[in-house]
Amino acid sequence: MPSVSLKPREEIRIRQGHPWIYDNEIAYVSGQPEPGAEIKAVDSRGKFLGYGFFNPASKIRVRIFSKARPEADAAFFEEAFRSALAHRARFFDIGKQSLRMVFGEADSVPGLVVDRFIGQAGTSPGSVGDGVSGTWLSTQFLSLGVEVRKAEIVEALARVFSPDGIIERSDAPVRALEGLEPASGTLAGEVPTSIRMEENGASFLVDLSGGQKTGWFLDQRANRAAAARFAPGARVLDAFCNQGGFGIVCGKAGAASVTAVDSSADALAAARANAQLNGVEGIFTTVEANAFDYLRSPESEGAKFDLVVLDPPAFAKSRAAVEPAHRGYKEINLRAMRLIPRGGVLVTCSCSHWFDDARFDAMLAESASDCGRRFRTIEQRTQDLDHPIVSGYGESRYLKCRILEML
Ligand code: SAH
Repeated sequence: MPSVSLKPREEIRIRQGHPWIYDNEIAYVSGQPEPGAEIKAVDSRGKFLGYGFFNPASKIRVRIFSKARPEADAAFFEEAFRSALAHRARFFDIGKQSLRMVFGEADSVPGLVVDRFIGQAGTSPGSVGDGVSGTWLSTQFLSLGVEVRKAEIVEALARVFSPDGIIERSDAPVRALEGLEPASGTLAGEVPTSIRMEENGASFLVDLSGGQKTGWFLDQRANRAAAARFAPGARVLDAFCNQGGFGIVCGKAGAASVTAVDSSADALAAARANAQLNGVEGIFTTVEANAFDYLRSPESEGAKFDLVVLDPPAFAKSRAAVEPAHRGYKEINLRAMRLIPRGGVLVTCSCSHWFDDARFDAMLAESASDCGRRFRTIEQRTQDLDHPIVSGYGESRYLKCRILEML
């Protein structure tokens, strides 16, 4: 088996559980590994570190998938998927809830994301899910190692999850860093254009082929429920609403009004359909705008909101982007705070791993002091439990969600 030998001291992070070996950490490669092939990683003294996928086209030259199994074959994937399923079965109703079943490196399958949706098939994006019940997998193949093993992975997914259909949504920009073109389409069975699923006691239409990422942001499930506790009677602003995951649950919880802002017309159309599906369309208004502009517009300045949700996309996609991201996060948080009267609540999120908890909390404190306010932290939250956080792999700790009472 080909092997990769690290330079002195580069093994420390790997021994702590980090699965990535970068090109500049490698002393030499022995044998002639094919792109995507399994490779053995050893430290500078030749001591074993793990087995990984080799990708000569990526800065992440090796992604470790196991310390025990040298081969990533169908049996390896099946075991990994069963283990991921067993973990989630400890705290979710896996027969009923739509869940992220495989979260890449955090489930020891580097670069593979699998979301399982449970619901009813709908015949069009606006339809009410008139079809039969089923389960569908929405997948992303984000590393060369899983890309070249798609057939084995599909086989293992079918065996472990018995889905009615599997769709691929590998249309993510990170594929380019692995030397891969975007890819999407049906991998197995049939996948309806639209499905209707339940979350937090509300119904949502999810467009598996056209929605952003895998179709729905499952990681915010518990945070949506946490936000909705403050919704009864509240004027709610759901900024960066996508398909209304926060706003609609707030509407169902008894909000007086929900203003849902997003820059994507498609997302807002889906949000409106979802509002209607849940009978909250009468209090639900959508605004197509850049949220930065909306938050400083006269339209919002006159308004007061008792509950504001900020759930922007990742502003810091690398370490280098942390400073500009800080300015971006500060701007929207400061402006949101100005719209909230004393006693109102801000639910604010960041999904950039690089922008860590300490920075996020410091940014929030600065934002408050810049507008002459203080806040009480009601809750410090993270992603829901189907997106595991594993030791040694800091990237798995990515979502921050704070619930603040404005003073
Ligand atoms: N809150 C959503 C998920 C938000 S994802 C949920 O609960 O599911 C981030 C959203 O921000 C996307 O829908 C994207 O279209 C939107 N977006 C990105 N940049 C934006 C901007 N500058 N202004 C408004 N919306 C933006």
